Amino acid sequence: MSGKIQRVRGTRDLLPEDNVVFRFVEQSAYEKAILYGFGEIETPIFEFSEVFHRTLGETSDVVSKETYDFTDRGGESLTLRPEGTAGVARAFISEGMSQLLPLKFYYSGQMFRYERPQKGRYRQFYQLGAECLGYDTPLADVECIAMAWDLLQKIGISADCTLEINTLGDAESRAAYRDALVAYFKAHEDQLSADSKTRLEKNPLRILDSKDEGDKKLNENAPKLEQYLNETSQTFFKKVLGGIEKLGIPFKVNSHLVRGLDYYCHTVFEFTTTKLGAQGTVLAGGRYDGLIEMMGGPKTPGVGWAAGIDRLADLTPKELAVRQEVLVAIIGADEQGEEESVKVAHEIRARGLKAENFLSGKMGKKMQKANNKGAHYALILGGNEVANNTVTVKNFATGEQKEISRAELKTYSFTL
Ligand code: ATP
Ligand code: MG
Repeated sequence: MSGKIQRVRGTRDLLPEDNVVFRFVEQSAYEKAILYGFGEIETPIFEFSEVFHRTLGETSDVVSKETYDFTDRGGESLTLRPEGTAGVARAFISEGMSQLLPLKFYYSGQMFRYERPQKGRYRQFYQLGAECLGYDTPLADVECIAMAWDLLQKIGISADCTLEINTLGDAESRAAYRDALVAYFKAHEDQLSADSKTRLEKNPLRILDSKDEGDKKLNENAPKLEQYLNETSQTFFKKVLGGIEKLGIPFKVNSHLVRGLDYYCHTVFEFTTTKLGAQGTVLAGGRYDGLIEMMGGPKTPGVGWAAGIDRLADLTPKELAVRQEVLVAIIGADEQGEEESVKVAHEIRARGLKAENFLSGKMGKKMQKANNKGAHYALILGGNEVANNTVTVKNFATGEQKEISRAELKTYSFTL
């Protein structure tokens, strides 16, 4: 840091108007989670580095380039969580929850990735997500997708989003496909980007996910996984597609969709939008049957998704997020009135109504500020009102003004 004090690059300050939308998105997701039988889990923001390094794979973009790794004062290698699934899987294993299967978890919180910051892409960002553990049936995939779709509908953005879906097949199909891919890319190795040359050795499937223009060209003619899917994998995928069709959720099969992480199998999906420029993916997920075993736990199937709250909030219509409710302004007209105003405000709030007490300035200025804030009513109190045990109620919409007793005020109806 030098000179003027600043935010760290890639972080953001969420101001009150931002948080109105963030809260709405999170609250909507939480409500959907409860409806679908998911319980909320909160795992630590940092874990032992190996929790992420082992699960996400050393060659994944996230681990090789994006994690915030540090050594703490006790010499432990720790990592700020770049995503939610690994932490949930770690909790499942370390808390010995396998007797409780099936388990469904919902989470929401900050994630950290050292990325090139731009609109919709931050170094500290927010995700909410769902993980369904213990079901190997494709119907679990369908329910997870349905919950995601319900959420996008609830926050008013489903019309802007497209569900893209693909299958990676089971382990056998992927092994056959991997061989075919290696043969193809080996034959064109000179045209591959440096990153993809490394991927060719370690995880050739990832080349399909590459953002390099040269790689993208090669990918167009690369063998397709479809041709290598065994019967089990084909049946599984058909059931997923059949299920989402039955629910009337529109989708597009995209055979290029592979997802960046090692642990996915069978279903992978993304909800994308064209409304956010380059950062088009708002929600992404898939099945990860191998993950928990890979982390040293019992073999446990899983399927889930995560959504970027920053991106969801960008799309959410603001008027949906803002709660329509009455605002009562309390205006002390003189010193005596001001002193009583705190008690009046307190009484209004005790009824569950929003009351804002304008504490300083002249009477006229206070009324103006109340109006600017969008107050629907003003309760005006001066020495007279205090002496008579009354308040003057002004309705901003009609301009009407009348004096009522404090007893009447207790049940006075404030309407929008
Ligand atoms: P991308 O291709 O945009 O880098 P990703 O595949 O790395 O996404 P996931 O790991 O699947 O993303 O995370 C799920 C969701 O979290 C993304 O679809 C996106 O909405 C959000 N997300 C991921 N990284 C960021 C980031 N750096 N800033 C804001 N949101 C993010
Ligand atoms: Mg990324």
